[in-house]
Amino acid sequence: MASIKSLPELLVNQIAAGEVVERPAAAFKEILENSIDANASEVTAQLVQGGIKRIRVVDNGTGILKEELSLALDRHATSKIRTLEDLQHITSLGFRGEALASIAAISRLTLTSRKAEADHAWQIGVAGKQLSQPKPASLAIGTTVEVDDLYFNIPARRKFLKTEATEFAHCEEVFKRMALSRPDIGFVLQHNEKLRIQLGITDLRRRIMAVLGEAFGQASLSVDEQSTGIRLYGLVALPAYARASRDAQYFFVNNRFVRDKLITHALREAYRDILHLDRHPAFVLFLDLNSGEVDVNVHPTKAEVRFRDSRALHQFIFHSIHKALASTHSQLEYAHQP
Ligand code: ADP
Ligand code: MG
Repeated sequence: MASIKSLPELLVNQIAAGEVVERPAAAFKEILENSIDANASEVTAQLVQGGIKRIRVVDNGTGILKEELSLALDRHATSKIRTLEDLQHITSLGFRGEALASIAAISRLTLTSRKAEADHAWQIGVAGKQLSQPKPASLAIGTTVEVDDLYFNIPARRKFLKTEATEFAHCEEVFKRMALSRPDIGFVLQHNEKLRIQLGITDLRRRIMAVLGEAFGQASLSVDEQSTGIRLYGLVALPAYARASRDAQYFFVNNRFVRDKLITHALREAYRDILHLDRHPAFVLFLDLNSGEVDVNVHPTKAEVRFRDSRALHQFIFHSIHKALASTHSQLEYAHQP
C-alpha cells in the first residue's frame, strides 16, 4: 500500500472547489455574497458565456487592504468570524473563508480593491499556483472580482458543464435570489455585454415585482407575523397564481436563501385547502430569528440550515400563512355574496 502523504495546498483547494464551485452559478453566488457582506449598495455583474468564460462583479463595498489581498485568497482566511462563539451566531452570508481560495484554484482570478482611505486601488492575480505581487490599479472605492476560464485546469469538470444558456439561467437565478433578499441594494446583470436586469434601490414589494413580474405582486398578499424572537414577512401568492413548477418559491432565513423540507412542508400544508395537488404555491418569504436558533454551518454551499426548535417553527410558519390565506378566502366569499 502507498504511504500516507499530506496533499499539496492547490490540490486541497481544488478538492474543496468540487463542492463549493459545482458550476459557474455557485462561484457567482459566493462572489455576490462577498459584495453584500462588504456592505455594498451597488453591485454590477458581468457574465460572459454563462459565466464559464468570465464572471466579473464590481461592488462599492468596504474594500480590502493591500496587505490583506493575498490573505483573501487563502483557504480558511476570513474577516467574518474569529471564534466558535461567532460561528454559533452568524450574521454574514460568508464565514467559511474558502470560497475565493476554491475559485482561485480552478480559474484565473483577479482581485482589485480600494479602501475609502487609499488613494488608489491594488490588484493581485492568481492562476493555479502563481500568485502575483499587488500592483497599483485604478478603481472607485470597493472591490472587483474577475474570474476567467473557470475549470481551465480541471478538464473533467469542464465536461460536465451544460450549454451556455443553461449555465446562464442558473446564474440568473442566483442573481434573482440575491436581488430579492436585498431591495436596499442596486443590482445590474449583464450577459455577453447585453443588459439583462437592472434594479434600483426600492422597497420589498416593488423589488419583488421588478424581479418576478407585476402579476406576482398583484396576485399576492402581504404577510407579517411575529412571535417571541421570530418574524415572518413577505408576499404569498393567491391560488390563482399557483404554478405547475416550484419556480417561484423563495424562502430566506436571516436573509439567506435556503431550501428546507420542513419549511416547504409547512407552506404546502398551509395552502392545502385551497390549492390543487398538482400546483405549487408561489411565495417570497423572509424568516428572521435569533442567529443562535439556526445552524448555518451544515453544508459547504450554505444552502441548508438546521433549526434548534423545528417543531415550533413549523407551527409558526403554518399558522402565519394559513391565517393570511384564510382571511382573503373569507373576504372573497363575502365579496361574492349577493
Ligand atoms: P468568507 O466570505 O467566508 O469570509 P471568502 O473566501 O469568500 O470567505 O472571502 C475571503 C475574505 O475576503 C472575506 O472574509 C473578506 O474579508 C474578503 N472579501 C472577499 N470579497 C470581498 C469584497 N467583495 N469586498 C470586501 N472584502 C471581500
Ligand atoms: Mg464569501
